[in-house]
Amino acid sequence: MHNKKLTSLCCICLLLSFGFQFFNQPYNIISTGTLTFFFTLLLVSRRAIHKKEPADPFIYQPQTSKIKTLDYQSQKHVSEEVAEAPISALGSQHCQNEWKLIEKEIDQILDNSIKIIRNHIDAHTVAIFFPTSDAGYKLRRYFSKSDCINENAVIYPGVGIIGGFFKDGLQQVNLHEITNDSVNLYYYLDDAGIRSLMASPISADNLQRGTIIVDSTSRNFFTNEDHAFLNTAAALLGQAVYNTYLYTEHKLEHIRLAAMSNIEKVFFRDLSIDTILNKMVEVIPFAIPCDRLTISIKSENGNSATILRTWGSNCEAFNNFKFPLNDKHLIPLFYSKNICIYRNFSKDHHETRYFDDEPKDTLFNSFLAVPIGVDSCRGILFIESFKRNAFNDSYKDLINRIAISAGLAIEKILIYEKAKELATHDGLTSLYNHREFQQILQDEITRSIRYKDPLSLVICDIDYFKKVNDTWGHQFGDSVLKGVASYLDSSIRNNIDTASRYGGEEFALILVKTDKNAAIETVERIRQGISKMEFKSPSGEQVRVSMSFGIAVYGLHAKRIDELIKKADKALYRAKENGRNRVEIF
Ligand code: GH3
Ligand code: MG
Ligand code: MG
Repeated sequence: MHNKKLTSLCCICLLLSFGFQFFNQPYNIISTGTLTFFFTLLLVSRRAIHKKEPADPFIYQPQTSKIKTLDYQSQKHVSEEVAEAPISALGSQHCQNEWKLIEKEIDQILDNSIKIIRNHIDAHTVAIFFPTSDAGYKLRRYFSKSDCINENAVIYPGVGIIGGFFKDGLQQVNLHEITNDSVNLYYYLDDAGIRSLMASPISADNLQRGTIIVDSTSRNFFTNEDHAFLNTAAALLGQAVYNTYLYTEHKLEHIRLAAMSNIEKVFFRDLSIDTILNKMVEVIPFAIPCDRLTISIKSENGNSATILRTWGSNCEAFNNFKFPLNDKHLIPLFYSKNICIYRNFSKDHHETRYFDDEPKDTLFNSFLAVPIGVDSCRGILFIESFKRNAFNDSYKDLINRIAISAGLAIEKILIYEKAKELATHDGLTSLYNHREFQQILQDEITRSIRYKDPLSLVICDIDYFKKVNDTWGHQFGDSVLKGVASYLDSSIRNNIDTASRYGGEEFALILVKTDKNAAIETVERIRQGISKMEFKSPSGEQVRVSMSFGIAVYGLHAKRIDELIKKADKALYRAKENGRNRVEIF
């Protein structure tokens, strides 16, 4: 009765400890933590069985505090690993290495279990068998007094003495008077004179995961208690092994997610499509074995796309190539389908990826195309491999996740850029708006003071524009405004000077590093250009407009921003007064 109570208490404690470990502890603690507990449990239960001591649940208390200490340390260990989770955690090599390490840990658990069984039972051989992929059970670890163990032994259900018992799954076996040659047991190469044998299935999570076989050269050697002990040992071993595997899967997934989250942080960090593309080129060929990667992004109007990043074999010809999306080639097709596509290339002809005269490689045999984007296809990740069937499901999942995150980040950037554009630019002409003009002028003045450079401000206004509207309508007036704005913008130095819409039909030009004479020369050239522009009215007439210009030079005419604007405005007023279509300097 006491024994029963003690055993159930032990089982509950053990299950708690396994649960605890599964969620919190790294594998290296499992081998020590589990086995410490396992060993103590067996010693205590053994004493309880043999000395018939009353069960005392409180004797387990020190163990509980030990588990807590281990848990804290292991938690720290996992957190550190996750914080540093490198991109390599996404690579298949990383998983293979981790699994190799875990198999060593499992071997240690098995060896320690064998030691514990030998402490209790004076066996000739203790052998542990694990399932094979072809339904057999292969010898994994053993101890034997015999030197003729067949280290490559596999027991198949229905074959040999032991296999006969395993016809309908692993069973408990207890043989007291074996007369056959030990070779029939399949794990001896010669007759070791085995007369008794017992086997206990190793099971966990309702699945049979192997068997422990213990034998002896004496007849009727094993007692019922010995077999009960072996059953308990097998059950505990099953749990330990199962939890170790489960923990490893959990840990690998945890680190993989952390590595992915580190990549996503970069995607969303600095609102830059370049950063996202660079990170993808860094990560993808590393995490997914491939021979070429090309990434294209759709243009704003959606009619074409450009290959912005390339990596791998013979990729240079694709770099920065712009291709139309209405062609029937592979990638334009994938843009329209907006789904992940994986297949082998046709063997008998070259399938055009992007454009007609692209390099025709016969080396590539399979590809994976993944759309970047969530609601719509913003781009395509195109991965090619020399191997056929190169991309398995886990690679597809990974690349999909990268593409979705990158797509979300790109969509966020586009929304942000749109909002920024609306806040800083004029909707009709696309020039900077008045508020942005003030900010740019302030910044440029600060810079010109620091570098002692001259700066000229030009305010200009279309002459008799009211008449244009009155004669040909407001819509035609708008098209004239757009044309004039575009001419002004294209007449100044790109990314150096700025053109802004100052008000209705008034514009402002900030000419940096430009003194009085240079400003007069530039503005006179622009004035002449505008006066030569021809607009076609709705009724088909050729319409021309002229502009008047006022210039003020920072330092020469004004030392403050408001003063500078006022003086450029005054010069413009004088240009109007003096007959329009002319340039005046304050
Ligand atoms: P001036 O030579 O003295 O500058 O004569 P003006 O007719 O150009 O000047 P005025 O200030 O009398 O008229 C400016 C006109 O510009 C009136 C207004 O309807 C028009 N305007 C302002 N903003 C817009 C716009 O966005 N679109 C159109 N079509 N017209 C605009
Ligand atoms: Mg005007
Ligand atoms: Mg005006």
